[in-house]
Order: sequence, then C-alpha cells, then structure tokens
Amino acid sequence: MFESILLFVFGSFIGFISPRLPILMVTRAKGFNYHFSQHPEPVSLSPHLTQRVIHMRTFYWLGLGLSLIPIAAGYASIIWGSAPLGFGMWISSGWAVINKLQTFIGGNDPPWTYEMAIRLQMVMNNSTQNPCCEFSEPEWQLTAVRCASCKITLDEMPRPDLGRKRSDGIIVGSIRLLASGGYPVVSEHYDD
Ligand SMILES: [Zn+2]
Repeated sequence: MFESILLFVFGSFIGFISPRLPILMVTRAKGFNYHFSQHPEPVSLSPHLTQRVIHMRTFYWLGLGLSLIPIAAGYASIIWGSAPLGFGMWISSGWAVINKLQTFIGGNDPPWTYEMAIRLQMVMNNSTQNPCCEFSEPEWQLTAVRCASCKITLDEMPRPDLGRKRSDGIIVGSIRLLASGGYPVVSEHYDD
C-alpha cells in the first residue's frame, strides 16, 4: 500500500514537471539573457524583449505536446507496469492539458500571449513618435510598463516571468515559478 502511494506520487510528479520543463529550463542560462537586465530588475523595452515574450509563449504551448509523453508512458505503465505510477502520471499531465485547453473556452489567457508582444511593440512605437518626456525610457516593471525617467505609466500590464536566470536560485526560483505558473505575482515579497 505504502509503495503504491509512493509510486502514485512519483508518477504525479513526472506528469506535473514534464510539461513545464521548457519554461523552467530553456532560457535560464546566462547566454540567453545577454540582452536583459538581471532578474528581478525592470527590463527595458526592446525588440529582444518582444521576441522573448513570443518565445515564452512558444515554450508554454510546447508543454502541451510534452504532456503527451507522460500520458503515453502512463498508459503503458497502467497496462504493462505499475498502475499507481501510471495513474499518477495520467492525472497530473491530464490536468495540465485541461488547464491549457480551457483558454479556448473562455478561461484565463496564458501568462504569455501574442497580444502582450503587440502591446509592448505599441508602447515602443509610441515612445519614439510621442515621447512622454525628453529622455523617454520605457521599461517593464513588476506591475506595469513605465517610463524610467518620468515614471509615467505607459501600459497597465503586469510583468510575467521572462525566462531570465532567477535571483532566488534554481531551486527556490523553480518552486516559485511552478507555483505561479509564470503569471505575474504582484506582491512585495515575490518577484516575477
Ligand atoms: Zn518619460
């Protein structure tokens, strides 16, 4: 019985972590973040930032494909191997799939969207055409896009995780990221 519970928990963990691996790992290395300030500092708006939002969106949806691995492995495990392990994998990866698909039936938007990238681009265009001040410098702060010089709010869009190497380290950073799902965490104690 105890062994079954352990296997179930282990299976759930595999099913939980696999769809999230791209977001947790891919962009965190230093070389990927050359163009950005360090986490959790605000990030200056630039084509690199817009591109990063698009990349995070891709990795998010890639997770949907990666969920199929624990679903298939869970199925194989139920048939030929350990049923608790297989059920664990099914439940958590199945939940990840449902969670992502609810976007299409009017649920929450993903943490990274195409619209978000467009809005960043619009703020950038605007700050070149109608700058808010003499040294207009739009940056994405935790709670909104603001000008670093005159502090005016340019877009009320809280900042999601941007795939930078986290200041709180790999372990704590990953746990926080798993808890927030990459969504903006607007609180004094947490950063993106
Ligand atoms: Zn300004």
